[in-house]
Amino acid sequence: PQHYAIGIKELWEVDPAVHEPGVVVHGSGWPLDSDASGGCFMYHGEDNQVVVGLIVDLNYSNPYLSPFDEFQRMKHHPQFARVLSQGKRISYGARAIAKGGLNALPEMAFPGGLLIGCDAGTLNFAKIKGTHTAMKSGMLAAENVAKALSAEQEPGQTLTDYTESFKQSWLQQELHASRNFGPALHKFGTLLGGAYNWLEQNLFKGHVPWTLHDRTPDYAQLKPASEYPAKDYPKPDGKLSFDKSSSVYMSNTNHEEDQPVHLRLKDPAIPITVNLPRYDEPAQRYCPAGVYEIVEGNNGPELQINAQNCVHCKTCDIKDPSQNICWVVPEGAGGPNYPNM
Ligand SMILES: Cc1cc2nc3c(=O)[nH]c(=O)nc-3n(C[C@H](O)[C@H](O)[C@H](O)COP(=O)(O)OP(=O)(O)OC[C@H]3O[C@@H](n4cnc5c(N)ncnc54)[C@H](O)[C@@H]3O)c2cc1C
Ligand code: SF4
Repeated sequence: PQHYAIGIKELWEVDPAVHEPGVVVHGSGWPLDSDASGGCFMYHGEDNQVVVGLIVDLNYSNPYLSPFDEFQRMKHHPQFARVLSQGKRISYGARAIAKGGLNALPEMAFPGGLLIGCDAGTLNFAKIKGTHTAMKSGMLAAENVAKALSAEQEPGQTLTDYTESFKQSWLQQELHASRNFGPALHKFGTLLGGAYNWLEQNLFKGHVPWTLHDRTPDYAQLKPASEYPAKDYPKPDGKLSFDKSSSVYMSNTNHEEDQPVHLRLKDPAIPITVNLPRYDEPAQRYCPAGVYEIVEGNNGPELQINAQNCVHCKTCDIKDPSQNICWVVPEGAGGPNYPNM
């Protein structure tokens, strides 16, 4: 199956004294516990701006884990706090990342269409980079569409030449060399998996004769809440760390109030009858925008869906342990607005 992570990211304007254009900071593991994997990043850009973020693999098993709160906690690390403490947050966003790589690529050509970029899952997870691979797949697709048009092919054909040219390209080689990166972390954990990946990527350059797989979908990895103590995240200080509502405000997300809810439940009873008793309804925590809230109704607890807050990250569709949430495209132009992210 495809595997995913949630990436949460903020843009900050920082004190020029601590701004070092071009500096890249990558980290792995912390602040996550050993039963979850992920990595953090900080990029110093132009105009005293830095981008800071946390990627949390969505195969985590503790239903009390909150990627949003882990990210807020992360910014208090001295490495990040040193840069951010005199700065100002200017934007917030979140997005799921399709990171299954080569092992999870679907058929990319079908009658009348081609899948490219992250719609197919071309991101190189070892580098957490998907822009160059998305562009390459788009270029290969465009070349094959142009070839079919100039050969005056009938519409609705399956352009299998695209799949062939993909296989012959550096893109296939790059994804092949990083195919074990995610499965190794999933199988062996951050420490051992990280050590394995270091050896495979640096000593063997990804050229090993075996392929590791993780055949369990991310949602199926969640364990019952009874197996874990509840997590007590620190309260945000309003300087480095923030709450979900002020963060959603910074994503500029907007949906028409009178539109149908774009987060559909296949069975409206499941959040209260299954997810709440078994997993303490994890949607309250994995959603980085506070869309899902358990509120006390006239007849006991109810799930309230604040659909207007949604930042379109798609995590709920991926991580709901009952696979009961279906994210559908909302009305035209609704959603977050990330002008400079
Ligand atoms: C937090 C985070 C950090 C990342 N950091 C890096 C990095 O440093 N370097 C790197 O190379 N990659 C990075 N990536 C990955 C990179 O962003 C993606 O791999 C890349 O953007 C994929 O490009 P794409 O064109 O396939 O998809 P996208 O960039 O997702 O583009 C798809 C577009 O389609 C639009 N769209 C979707 N549905 C509809 C619809 N129904 N109608 C009209 N439009 C629609 C979307 O709004 C979007 O603009 C990061 C990802 C995340 C989440
Ligand atoms: S409702 Fe779903 S798609 Fe929207 S922000 Fe929350 S987790 Fe992401």
